[in-house]
Amino acid sequence: MLPERSTSPEQFPIGGNKVESVQDRLTRQERRLDRLALHCQAMWEMLRERAEFTEEEISAKILEVDLRDGRADGRISQQVATCPSCKQRTSTKRETCVICGAELGRNLAFEV
Ligand SMILES: [Zn+2]
Repeated sequence: MLPERSTSPEQFPIGGNKVESVQDRLTRQERRLDRLALHCQAMWEMLRERAEFTEEEISAKILEVDLRDGRADGRISQQVATCPSCKQRTSTKRETCVICGAELGRNLAFEV
């Protein structure tokens, strides 16, 4: 159960003069998490049914992806990719290469 909003909630500036309360941020993050869980479940069920992947295979893949940033911490952090144009390493969080501006394309199947 979430605590009741106080009479003067902590607020954070977001774009322009708008402010967003801690409660609003938490609600937004919970929605994102629910959407991500839904997408993961649907994706996993399709793979299990159509490609007949096993729990062991998905677990191994999860570990492989987790280790891409060098840490098995159960988190997917900023991804690094090689730019197809300049061959420099760049973040996949950007739509374009930070070095040369080439479009990177999306590597992630879905983002939340
Ligand atoms: Zn580039």
